[in-house]
Amino acid sequence: ALEKRIQDLEARQQQYPEVTFLTYKDRKRILVTGGAGFVGSHLVDRLMLAGHEVIVADNFFTGRKRNIEHWIGHENFELINHDIVNPLYIEVDQIYHLASPASPPHYMYNPVKTIKVNSIGTINMLGLARRVRARLLFASTSEVYGDPEVHPQKETYFGNVNPFGPRSCYDESKRVAEAMCYAYAQQEGISIRIARIFNTYGPRMHMNDGRVVSNFVLQALQNEPITIYGTGKQTRSFQYVSDLVDGLIALMNSNYSMPMNLGNPDEYTIEQFATKIKELVGSQASIVYKDPVIDDPKQRRPDIGLAKSWLNWEPKVLLSDGLNKTIAYFRNELLVKHHSNRN
Ligand code: UDP
Repeated sequence: ALEKRIQDLEARQQQYPEVTFLTYKDRKRILVTGGAGFVGSHLVDRLMLAGHEVIVADNFFTGRKRNIEHWIGHENFELINHDIVNPLYIEVDQIYHLASPASPPHYMYNPVKTIKVNSIGTINMLGLARRVRARLLFASTSEVYGDPEVHPQKETYFGNVNPFGPRSCYDESKRVAEAMCYAYAQQEGISIRIARIFNTYGPRMHMNDGRVVSNFVLQALQNEPITIYGTGKQTRSFQYVSDLVDGLIALMNSNYSMPMNLGNPDEYTIEQFATKIKELVGSQASIVYKDPVIDDPKQRRPDIGLAKSWLNWEPKVLLSDGLNKTIAYFRNELLVKHHSNRN
């Protein structure tokens, strides 16, 4: 039986060379909050393929069962329909705490819920980490830098955040969550990791996500006007989701416990981005300019020196390759939607 297991492991390793497979003593029990979401489900795939036991807690506010349905019934996988604003009592070794709405339209739709999940939800997860002595990785955000006056953004920059505005429910609750991680680490000796995640895109983004990538791709595919908010001179830097997952896992298993940026420094104006997507789709869509968004950061680009030196990590996927995969995903989503509307 042992020989068979080793053979299985070797076969899997050959099939997925990018994944490091574990011997059974290295297997961990890992909780992923928000594991049915866009980033969470890709992380779950990677952890499951590596042979870990994975528990997903999700309230399906923006997450979707279909993102992880391929694991349902697997002996190493467990899905809990749970809102982490309520405490959770389980036994785990590691916690990836990703649960939170993340796109501006989603987090502004219910700002109170956004604040609760990042404040009370994070307290609950830190409490769980303390009780079972688990390590917790918190999914923070480039939004902690607000509308940055320092460019590119290094982890040592304190940010320029409006505490009282439409984005503050997200920005300030992510900031207080970082402060909570710090306090629990100091006072309770909890092992924490803080990933400041920059704009991320890829398959399984929500159709109604409302962020620039999904909006532009869907508009281009349907030959609808591509909507640029404001002048289009504002910049963003986009990382493909598989690069982020590599970074999250490397950070969790590193011995670096201060905040760390994870993003792709490849920076574009939103106008350039609209043109690029239009070209890749081969779309006839027009480009239209809409009202600017309140408190929209004018520029954003990560300094990833820390991640490079501590994790030996940097993004690998080129924008055009990542976008082509994302376009293929949304093309299929539109087909599915079209068929389900007709039937
Ligand atoms: N944006 C846009 N058109 C859209 C959606 C977004 O021009 O249909 C702009 C938005 O104003 C911002 C940038 O694209 O400057 C990125 O916005 P997104 O909502 O994707 O994420 P953010 O980085 O602001 O959280």
